[in-house]
Amino acid sequence: MIFLNPLGAPQLACDHCGCRWFARVEGATCYECGSEVTPENMAEYQVALTRFAAQNPNLSQPDR
Ligand SMILES: [Zn+2]
Repeated sequence: MIFLNPLGAPQLACDHCGCRWFARVEGATCYECGSEVTPENMAEYQVALTRFAAQNPNLSQPDR
């Protein structure tokens, strides 16, 4: 799932336990429960990041 931080920037979170993933490289696992971060999760997150960047050109990199 994707969370939005107070600035509206997307943050990738675990589908299983809802925590925000600590490591965001491909093949990483959930920091809390060990669930695998799937390519679909990563793709969804990248789409959300791209959308956020397009809508907020004046902001620096969102929280990661
Ligand atoms: Zn988890």
